[in-house]
Amino acid sequence: MTATAAIEAAGLGKRYGRLGKWAVRDCSFRLPQGHICALVGPNGAGKSTLLAQLAGLLRPSEGVVRVLGKAPGEMRDRVSFLAQEKPLYGQFTIAETLRMGRELNPQRWDDARAERIVGDGGLELGLKVRELSGGQRTRVALALALGKQPELLLLDEPMADLDPLARHQLMGNLLAEAGESGTTVVISSHILAELEGACDYLFLMEGGRVRLGGETEELLGAHALLSGPVAELDPNTTVVESRVTGRQMTALVRKDGEIGGSWESVEPTLEELLLAHMRSPEAPALLAPSAEPRALAHIDRKAGAAA
Ligand code: ADP
Repeated sequence: MTATAAIEAAGLGKRYGRLGKWAVRDCSFRLPQGHICALVGPNGAGKSTLLAQLAGLLRPSEGVVRVLGKAPGEMRDRVSFLAQEKPLYGQFTIAETLRMGRELNPQRWDDARAERIVGDGGLELGLKVRELSGGQRTRVALALALGKQPELLLLDEPMADLDPLARHQLMGNLLAEAGESGTTVVISSHILAELEGACDYLFLMEGGRVRLGGETEELLGAHALLSGPVAELDPNTTVVESRVTGRQMTALVRKDGEIGGSWESVEPTLEELLLAHMRSPEAPALLAPSAEPRALAHIDRKAGAAA
C-alpha cells in the first residue's frame, strides 16, 4: 500500500491553442508528500505551465494529473498557488488582506500563522499594500498562501524580485513553516544557488518534460564527476557531459558502469549536476524509484479532456 502522492502526472501535455507549440509534453513523474521540491529548468521549459496545471488553472491537452489523489480542480481549498503576479490589492492594508484570506478560507484559515509570517518581516498590519516593496509584497502573498494551511504549496519563482538577503530570510521562514506543518512545497526557480541546501527533492524540466527527478541526495549520489587523462570510458557508462582540455578530460557520468582506476571521481555539486544536464539535452532522463508514476502508470494519455 502506497501513500497518496502529493502530485502524480502521466503523459501530461499542454499546448496553447489547437495548433500551438507544446509547452508541456510527455510529462510523467510522481512527488511523494512532505518534500520541499525544486522545479528547475531554463526559461521556456514549461515550469509555469505545469504549475498552473497543478493548481487547476489550466486543463491538460493530454495526459492525466492528480494532486493529493484527485483532479486539481477539486483540490483548490487544500492547495495554495503563488503565481509570479501577486494577487494583492494596493488599497488594502495588510490586516485587510489577511481578513480577506480568512473570509475566502473560513474552514482552514490560521490567523496566528499568517500574522507571524508578516511580523517576521517587521511589517505593521496597518500598512497599505501599495506602500510595500516587492519583497514585502511577496511576504504578504506568502502569508496569504500559508495562512490557508495548504497540504501542497506551489510557488512560481516567488523570490525572483528579491535581493539575496530578503530571499534568504523569506526562504528560511518558508522552510520553517513548511517543516512544522509537513506541507509539501514545490518551488520553481532558475536561480540554482537559491535551492542548494533548501530542497530535498528535485525535478529538472526541459522542453516540457521532466529530465531528472528524485531525492536530491539520491540524484547526486547516482552521478560522478570524473577527471583524468583522456581515456576510454567503459561503454556501459552513461555520459551526461564530457569535455577535453589538452590531455585532460572531465566527464559527468551516471554511476551505472565500471569506472576505471585512472579516474579521479567525486560527487558533483547540485549546480554541476543541473548545468551538465541543461547543456546536454540528449542525455537520457533519470527518475529515482520514488519519482516514477505508480497509480497513473497505465492510464491512456489521451484521457486529458476527461481529467
Ligand atoms: P517556464 O516557466 O519554464 O519559463 P512556461 O511554462 O512559461 O515556461 O512556457 C513554456 C512554453 O510555453 C514557452 O515556449 C512559452 O513561450 C509558451 N507559453 C507560455 N504561456 C503561453 C501562453 N499563454 N500562450 C502561448 N504560449 C505560451
